[in-house]
Amino acid sequence: MNKLLKEHIVVAQNASGRNMNVPLYRFVGKQPGPKVYIQSSIHGAEVQGNVVIYQLIQWLKNLPICGEVLLVPNCNPVGTNIKAGEYTLGRFDPVNGTNWNRGYYYDDAFIREFAHSIDDEEAVQSIKFRFRKKMKQQLQSRLDETWGIGLAQHLNLKLQQLAFDADYVLDLHNG
Ligand SMILES: [Zn+2]
Repeated sequence: MNKLLKEHIVVAQNASGRNMNVPLYRFVGKQPGPKVYIQSSIHGAEVQGNVVIYQLIQWLKNLPICGEVLLVPNCNPVGTNIKAGEYTLGRFDPVNGTNWNRGYYYDDAFIREFAHSIDDEEAVQSIKFRFRKKMKQQLQSRLDETWGIGLAQHLNLKLQQLAFDADYVLDLHNG
């Protein structure tokens, strides 16, 4: 059967200095195969995706897979915990108004430059390998910047580090 690994990554700290964690559920099949990445609740009030992931976890406990499925429910503990009465203000960082879902790394010039580095002979596997290696470096260098990265962008980059080498990525949003 699949191997299930549960871990946490630290994505932020609250005002009193306590770490805010995001849970990771990693199912690894006995046979090799593609990597699937699914996250939910980047907009903290959109909790329905967490239920979908919960159901998926129950399924994957008994369903042999090839490859890997990485599930990241409640991926925005900051947004989920910001309440006004019973209402969850999950869409924007209340400190600066930034949408929690707009800070992923994308650089048109980087993509263009990489595209020019490919020649007609190169195998798809090799292109993927090189691209992911460069993406990994780009993400780390953004996170290493000591100035200018807001909480939302920091969170997005940490999540993108989990997803950049996946063959399929789903980011669950719902009303
Ligand atoms: Zn959303």
